[in-house]
Amino acid sequence: MIERTVTAVDAGGGGRTSMHPDHHDHHQHHLEPTDDAEGDEDCDRRQPKQEQATASTDVTEVAPGVVRTQLPISLPGLGHVNCYVLEDDRGVAVVDPGLPGPDSWDHLIDRLGRVGCSTDDVHTVVVTHSHPDHFGGAMRLHHESGADIVTHESFRSLFDRSELRDHEDSEELDLNSPDDRAEAIERYFSRPTPWGGRRARPPREFIERLRSGDSSPGSGFATPSPTRSLHDGQTISLARREWIAMHTPGHTYDHLCLYDPEFGVVLTGDHVLPSITPHISGLAPEADPLALFFTSLVRMTEMTDVTIALPAHGHPFRDLRGRAEHIIQHHEERLDVIRHASGDLPNGTVADFMQVLFRERSWGEMAESETYAHLEHLRESGELTRNFDDGVARYAPTD
Ligand SMILES: [Zn+2]
Ligand SMILES: [Zn+2]
Repeated sequence: MIERTVTAVDAGGGGRTSMHPDHHDHHQHHLEPTDDAEGDEDCDRRQPKQEQATASTDVTEVAPGVVRTQLPISLPGLGHVNCYVLEDDRGVAVVDPGLPGPDSWDHLIDRLGRVGCSTDDVHTVVVTHSHPDHFGGAMRLHHESGADIVTHESFRSLFDRSELRDHEDSEELDLNSPDDRAEAIERYFSRPTPWGGRRARPPREFIERLRSGDSSPGSGFATPSPTRSLHDGQTISLARREWIAMHTPGHTYDHLCLYDPEFGVVLTGDHVLPSITPHISGLAPEADPLALFFTSLVRMTEMTDVTIALPAHGHPFRDLRGRAEHIIQHHEERLDVIRHASGDLPNGTVADFMQVLFRERSWGEMAESETYAHLEHLRESGELTRNFDDGVARYAPTD
């Protein structure tokens, strides 16, 4: 049905661990980069990471019936997002159709054309997790082709309009009024974080769209509403075979990977990337998001028949187990840094520990959030205690 140029599977270089492990690289979404404080900066700067490469127009079959396309994004540390196109008798499914907005949409149309199809052929959109560079094109595809939007059952947007009503005093606000909406948005983002810090804000453009009420399907800024939710272990038929849904919380709580046992293919989203370490959000619906991430990574190391991992950024790679082990190791080392620092930082705040873990240019809400995830992990394991002083969390070693 579909004609295209098929090139060789590009999986040679992605799986190896570089000589200079990713001490500096945090997969950042939409906000400031938050690199580690330690390590040899020069080594890391020598070569841009593969995840930073600008989007190629090539379309490459990377697994049976699975074509890798790339859409441009410009976020700290990221130059493209992989939009995988999975073909079957009904047409195609796309995985992670890029950022919201008309530019990304035009590229998506172009890539589908290069694969030999159009938006009319898209019957399913899989969104691996709730970041805009992954869900951006979803609602528009849904409106134009009637495609199903498939996510994990815990999927939630970075910003959910319904949460504007979370405040006791928000009931009287009319969310159809631009002024009230602006006020509600301000209130929402001025709430302190659980550790008493400032809340990370989405990109200005995103806020402006919300403020102006431009969340029409055509704008691409509408919050995607899944039409089909998967739970862990559930299967979905794509590319003429069954894929198993794997709930992989960590990078976000709602992260979904898909595993094809027939050919040993894993769509890893942002859960496991070839050369950068995903950001861990401390803001999760469950305690200890880092523990959840470790569990999700261990699941990747236990899969014995993986032939290729297809990440959302960077090249496909073969050694999923090795890469997942490396990311676990990275966070174990970060925990050690906090253990050592906690002796010198009696009653340190999240911001205090962030300054130990990250370079100054990375300090900010995202770095605080990741630091908080590590501190809470040590508190859950009994190594640290937490007290609140004027609403600000302070951590100390357990006696
Ligand atoms: Zn992400
Ligand atoms: Zn991403």
